[in-house]
Parts: sequence; C-alpha cells; structure tokens
Amino acid sequence: MYKSLSFLLILISFNLWSQNEILYSVDLTRVNKDQLEINVSIPQWNRTTLTYYLPKIVPGTYANYDFGRYVSDFKAFDIKGKEMTVKKVGMNGYTIKPANNLSRITYLVDDTWDSPEIDGEYVFEPAGSSYAENQLFALNTHCLFGYFEGFEKTKLKLEIQKPKGFYGASSLKNIGNQKSNKDLFQIANYQELVDSPLMYSEPDTVKFTIANAEILISVFTPNKVLNAEQVAQKIKPLLELQKNYLGGSLPVDKYAYLIVLSDHLKNGSYGALEHAQSSFYYLPEGNIQTLGQTIADVSAHEFFHVLTPLNIHSEEIGNFNFQEPKMSQHLWLYEGLTEYAAHHAQLKANQDISRFMRTFKDKWDTMNMQFDNTISFTEMSKNVLEKYKSEYSNVYQKGAILGLGLDLSLRKWTQGKYGTQNLLKDLSRVYGKNQSFKDNELFPQLVKISKQEKIKEFIDSYIKGSEMIPLNEWLNLIGYELKSKEIKNTKRSLGFDLQGLNVNSKTHRLIINSTSSIDEFGRSIGLMQKDELLSINNMPLDLENFSISVGTFLNSVQIGQVIELQIARPNKEKGFDIFTLKAPFRFIEDNQINVIREVANPSQEQLDLRKAWMSGSDD
Ligand SMILES: [Zn+2]
Repeated sequence: MYKSLSFLLILISFNLWSQNEILYSVDLTRVNKDQLEINVSIPQWNRTTLTYYLPKIVPGTYANYDFGRYVSDFKAFDIKGKEMTVKKVGMNGYTIKPANNLSRITYLVDDTWDSPEIDGEYVFEPAGSSYAENQLFALNTHCLFGYFEGFEKTKLKLEIQKPKGFYGASSLKNIGNQKSNKDLFQIANYQELVDSPLMYSEPDTVKFTIANAEILISVFTPNKVLNAEQVAQKIKPLLELQKNYLGGSLPVDKYAYLIVLSDHLKNGSYGALEHAQSSFYYLPEGNIQTLGQTIADVSAHEFFHVLTPLNIHSEEIGNFNFQEPKMSQHLWLYEGLTEYAAHHAQLKANQDISRFMRTFKDKWDTMNMQFDNTISFTEMSKNVLEKYKSEYSNVYQKGAILGLGLDLSLRKWTQGKYGTQNLLKDLSRVYGKNQSFKDNELFPQLVKISKQEKIKEFIDSYIKGSEMIPLNEWLNLIGYELKSKEIKNTKRSLGFDLQGLNVNSKTHRLIINSTSSIDEFGRSIGLMQKDELLSINNMPLDLENFSISVGTFLNSVQIGQVIELQIARPNKEKGFDIFTLKAPFRFIEDNQINVIREVANPSQEQLDLRKAWMSGSDD
C-alpha cells in the first residue's frame, strides 16, 4: 500500500449546495501515486451512528468485487473541522460513532485497472476505474463513491475538477459553469450515481439524434487509429435498426456510448457494461475495418439492455442490494435473450444469414468446450456469485442459443406470427422501469402473455431443466441443420483446443477449462483440466506472448521432437505445483468439425417460417 498524503483541505462551494443533499467532489488534476482524494459532505443528519459503504457488487457485473479494497486513509470531520473516530467494518464499510456532528469524510482511492498491489479479484475493466494523467480518466462512479447506509435515496451533487482541455463524457447533464474547469451534476440518488459512469479525456465526441433520443459517442484511443466519427457511422445504422426492432421508438431520451480502446488487454478479456442511459466499453484497439463488427456486436448487445434488465427485471435487480445481493434466476433473459436479440436485429436488417449461423456455430462450440451444460440454467443464475462463478460466461453462449430456440419454437407454434421480439415488447408493457416482478412469477407470466402453453415445457426442459439442447431440431424448423462434418485431416496441436481456454482472474494465466478441450496429444503429454499454462519449449505462454509463442512453436516443431510444456496445477493447499510435461510431438487427427448449413431441399413450410423469422414485422 502507498503511504497516505496530507492534502490541502478542499473548499466547498456552499452556494451551490443545498442543505438536503450530499455533495461528492473529486479533483482530477491532483492524482498522487495513482490515487485520488474523495470528499463527501453531508447535511446535518444528527444520527448517533453513520456507516459509509463502498459497494461489494454493482448491477450488471454478477461478481463480488469489494470496491472498499481500493480505499485508504479514511477520515471523518465534524462541523468544526475536528477529526472524528472511525471504525472499519468488513471489507467495504466505515462506521462513525458518535456521528451527530459529522460534516464530511475524505479518503484516498486507487484505480482498479492499475493497482496490482491490491489483493483480490481483478475488476473487469468496464466496471473499473483508471487514472492516466494527461490521457484518460475512466470513472465508474461506484469505484470512487460510496453511500451512507439508510441514505441511499438522498439527492446528491457531484463536482468534478477536470484537467484543462478535458471533456467529461457521460449521460449526465453538466449544470456547472460551462467555461470553468469544474463540472457539476445533479443526481437523484445513489443508484443513479452508480448508473452514470464518466469518461474524461481530450474530446473526441459525436452527438446526433435518433427518433426521440440524443446520442453521444465518446472515444479514447491511445494510438489514434480510430475516431468517434467512424464509430458513429457504425452505431447510427445499428440504432436505427434497433429502434425498428423495438417498434419505432427508443425507450430512452438520451444515451451515451463511452468507448475506451486499449493497446494492451491486461486481463486478456474485453467487453462492456450496461447502464440505463449509457454503456461503458473496453475494447482492443483496432481500426474501423478490424474492430467495426466487434463494436457493432457489443454495442447492439449493450443497447438492448435498456429493455432487459433495465425495463424488465425482478425485485433482485429493482431493489439492488449493494452489500448482500440476491441473484435472480433469470440470467437466461437478462443476458441470453439480450445477446440473441442483438444478433437477430442485425440479421433482420442485413439479411446475412450465413454470418448469423457462423456466430451461433461458434457459440455452440464454445458452449460445449468451456461449460458444464448439465447444470440447470436457472440454478446457475441464482448461484453465479459463488458456486457457478466459472459458468457465468455461458450466458452469452447457451443463453443466446436458448433465445434462438425459444424464438424459433414460438414462431413454429404461431405460424410465424409471434417470437421473442414480441414477447420482450409485451413484457416491458406489463412491467417497466419501476415495476419489478417476483422472481418466480416470470415463467407463468410468459405463458400468459404469449398464450402458448407449450412454452412451459420448453422452460422446464431447457431453461430450468438441463436437457441436452436440440439445436439441430430447432434449426430444422427453418430448413437448417447442425452437422458434424467428417474430414480426414491431421493437424499440429498444442494438446488443447484454443476455444477451451479461459483466463484465471486471480493468477492472470490462461487456464484449460474443461476436459473436452484436451485432445489426443494433450492426453498423451498428461494435461489435465484446470492446468494453467506457463511456457512451451521455454517460450512464455502468458497473455501478452501467447499468440507469438504458439505461432513460433507450431511453425517450427518437428514430429518426434520432445516438447516441454510447463504448467501450474492447483494443489490441495490452494496453491499451485509446477510441472514440466514432456512427450514426443505428433500430429493429431482432426476429424470432426461442426457446421451449420442449409438442408438439401427445404420444404415450403421451412422456407415460410424462415422468412417470418428473418423479416417479420417489427410492430
Ligand atoms: Zn450484457
């Protein structure tokens, strides 16, 4: 940990601050040893005890992060400026007692992208924070600001002193003096604060209007290989088609895309996090040709979250508990159906069915390689924070495939008239932003809304139950099929399938996720599930060097040459043993690949259903 620093007291502009509000302030021009100082001033509450918490978890992440880990040097002051007694509670809380005269608190907070000295799980970048002076401040507000227990609904103001020439992009409206370097935001409550990430950098932004909504796109790219205008060219048509998909209007009146590109993906993963009026992206840097489709796919997914969970959600999400959250059983809906809709909407607009089928074939392969599909999806969802943590990403594979299956099945039962697009719209009419459903009330409601009794059987078999997904059968409804193509081929292999790799967020090493991804050569050398890769023939297999080392190895290795694969294998003491596995190299037979293709002679019925699915009306 860094030593604490003595900052000058920051004077608070009381004229802008109503006595009934909390005022959060931070000065981005004063980063010291990768830390920022946070000031929180409160009205006179006259409570004997007050506890201030940083969140343990925030909506949309489905992981316990304990943001309190990044806080240090916490101090509390009374109305006369005298320091008060503070007691730390757990990982994330600070109790002040007596608190009658509490006036303000201060603390230092590290960024999450670049604090390797802080123990615990690495925070996925779209949910984290970064302070890179002169370049970028990525501010997911929950990383910096906490709440006083019992005052989560209190109105607040947020004041941010920014570096000269920087622009603060977010969905919030700056009500401060536009000419000053201080931004001021009025925010309804803590939940809304957490829902409003900000990104400060030299401006590269585009604003435009679609239907009823004002759109802001802000881009940060370290090597200037892409700009906001190019991103806007990708997102504009996408929003148009999403608007049509949603029935002609957007369910928001403003929306901000905050996009950070990185030339060094530290944890090997990238992605985004959704909010009610914005989404925050962390993507590998690339130009518009290489990155365009990724931007389209990820942003289509994030934007559809305005529908679910933001407009269709259970109480677990509606009354989010930042310390002891209960997980809903409906990740298949929040993430799975969202991912499906993102691809289905694009398909309806571009009619590129081969691309759609390639995407879903990849999802099918990844689902089978990486995940345990004997687990009930609703059980996985409820226990995703602990027991089934490593199964979470299956929501983008199996979850999306369930979406496809449900859509095609619904259309089959209704002669093409009704699908998941209609179902989502009907659901958002019944519920909406401020109306949560009881977690176990949703499935009966789906039967009622769709008027399809058969939907219950589908849910019991594939969503609640863990029956093998009949993808081939579903595809057959529209004249497509899933085929395992027999090919006689030999190939060079490292001993495992690359799609079966994952990153261990604690060790930052690549890990072999499942037995099914280990091939014949891998078995002969003694590879096991949960092995973490260190090196091959002394070439490092860390995230940064993996592609180069693997490429060099596969290009130069000879049959019969003894290869050395160094791995770390988890042991009983919760540590790792290091092994060097050795075996003579040999080619493996690669004789099965999955393909999704059109059936030989599709019937009129199949063609009609395909047409209804691909081009059905959006109303
Ligand atoms: Zn999502």
